[in-house]
Amino acid sequence: MRTIGLIGGMSWESTAVYYREANELVRDRLGGLNSAKLVLASLNFHEISELQRAAEWQRAGEILAEAARGLEAAGAEIILICTNTMHLLIDQVQAAVTAPVLHIGDVAAEAVLEREIGRVALLGTAFTMEKAFYRERIEAHGIEVLVPRESDRATIHRAIFEELAVGVVSEDTRSAFREIIERLVADGAEGILLGCTEIELLIGDGDSPVPVFPTAQLHIAAAVDWALAE
Ligand code: GLU
Repeated sequence: MRTIGLIGGMSWESTAVYYREANELVRDRLGGLNSAKLVLASLNFHEISELQRAAEWQRAGEILAEAARGLEAAGAEIILICTNTMHLLIDQVQAAVTAPVLHIGDVAAEAVLEREIGRVALLGTAFTMEKAFYRERIEAHGIEVLVPRESDRATIHRAIFEELAVGVVSEDTRSAFREIIERLVADGAEGILLGCTEIELLIGDGDSPVPVFPTAQLHIAAAVDWALAE
């Protein structure tokens, strides 16, 4: 089994999903007392989110690159950035290490294509929904991407930073997300890409009339496949 390196803490609420899923998947695949070989660099999300708000992306990228170097030195053979948003900086992170950095958007797009879906709605932080980097990565797989209207984007962004990233899961917010999803499905979305690793703490298949794609779970599952491959 190969060792997976996680750049997490953004937020730790969703990094915990990576840790649990990795271990459950390895246990299910190998049985007994088998568990995942992991190294984790858990960053202080306060610091990172301040840099995001100030658009100091270069500095944030340096912090992630430094974390990646530490993971590789600790034995990581593949590296995961445990947030969709920070894939804005994947080139800077990849340049710092020789281990492959597995792109969460590519993993998500493959899952969408497996379901033979051609048009998804993208839910994520404002950075992920409004900047081109993530949308274009998905579109490069031949998938059309819809983004929510402005007021819905604000609702989603606020819920991520003010609720989900601090452990608050609210029924009112779940209802608001369901309404947003309904509007996107009415606009033609055939799938809902949960393009923020906290959203799957709130929303699952039962909240949507079309398939949902939980990026944290898909990302770690792909890494476990890689770690267990011969
Ligand atoms: N975890 C979130 C994501 O997947 C947001 C945290 C961040 O802004 O990095 O995008």
